[in-house]
Amino acid sequence: MLTLQTFIEKINSRTGFTGFLNYGEPMSRHTSFRVGGPADLFIRPDGGIFPAYAALLMESARNEGVPLFILGGGANIVVSDTGIRGVVLDTGGWHGAAAEGAELLVRAGTPVDDAVEAAAAAGLGGLEFLAGMPGTAGGAVWMNARCYEKSLSDVLAATEILDESGARLWVPARPEDFGYKKSPFQNRRVLILQARLALRKRPETEIRREMEERRQDREARGHYRYPSAGSAFKNNRDFGKPTGKIIDELGLRGLACGGAQVAPWHGNIIINTGNASASDIRALVSEVADRVKALTGFILEPEILFAGEWDG
Ligand SMILES: Cc1cc2nc3c(=O)[nH]c(=O)nc-3n(C[C@H](O)[C@H](O)[C@H](O)COP(=O)(O)OP(=O)(O)OC[C@H]3O[C@@H](n4cnc5c(N)ncnc54)[C@H](O)[C@@H]3O)c2cc1C
Repeated sequence: MLTLQTFIEKINSRTGFTGFLNYGEPMSRHTSFRVGGPADLFIRPDGGIFPAYAALLMESARNEGVPLFILGGGANIVVSDTGIRGVVLDTGGWHGAAAEGAELLVRAGTPVDDAVEAAAAAGLGGLEFLAGMPGTAGGAVWMNARCYEKSLSDVLAATEILDESGARLWVPARPEDFGYKKSPFQNRRVLILQARLALRKRPETEIRREMEERRQDREARGHYRYPSAGSAFKNNRDFGKPTGKIIDELGLRGLACGGAQVAPWHGNIIINTGNASASDIRALVSEVADRVKALTGFILEPEILFAGEWDG
């Protein structure tokens, strides 16, 4: 196998790379939990070269057997303390959102809040529910992000991807392919490039009022008080109540493992109180799930994703 340096120099000399590149980049700088060890090679190509560069990088990684991890805003992942082997491709340089009639075309690396702002400025309603949610548009499509009883798939018309063969194509969004926090891209090794969102005309003042309500609600619910990744576990209709309520009722608020803690004000948020390691977070997720199972029989499914090297 080529060394990573030779691997990337070959690609960069063919593409005229511009952007950010670093060996051993601490992933704690790129996750909302503020944890995670080094990425062997971290690359954020500039927007101007992004699709072509990503296509060549993905093809070369496949051919050479180099592991590749795609990073959005890092708002739903816990990267292990030993970090990520191979290449991390950060989509952050590939950003921008443009209205086309009643649709919004959003590049994957666009922060969700910027997409929401762009829709508001164009007088397009339908994205207000996402105001204040951390992460990128690409991550929101991949996760099928959901809040206030709405999912990203409710407004998704089509997604442009780089598929497993390196082809760049638009995939129409079929409702049957999406579910609660599920998108069809979770079972594939594809890169989401852009999303086409179907919105509707709405007076800008109304849009902004709703956006403000959402942001204030998140603020009041303590979303931004400490580093976290939002909800730690998925909800499940079969439980009959929200997962956070189940955890609350078992008295698990405030439960801690090292620097990781179940938020004292919300059962389904795990926070980094300052010096948490990724292992602390993982241990606490297991501890909460084990206790809930032992006391109620419910099997909780983590919503946060564990990336990088983990035992077991
Ligand atoms: C304070 C707070 C509040 C939150 N509230 C909510 C909420 O209300 N609802 C909700 O659903 N989530 C919420 N989250 C979680 C998070 O914001 C969402 O899951 C978000 O959609 C993750 O996007 P991201 O860009 O950060 O993805 P990342 O965390 O970077 O990645 C998540 C997954 O998506 C993949 N991915 C990312 N971009 C791409 C791409 N372009 N192509 C292919 N794969 C890609 C990654 O490989 C990874 O597997 C919250 C998080 C925080 C910190």
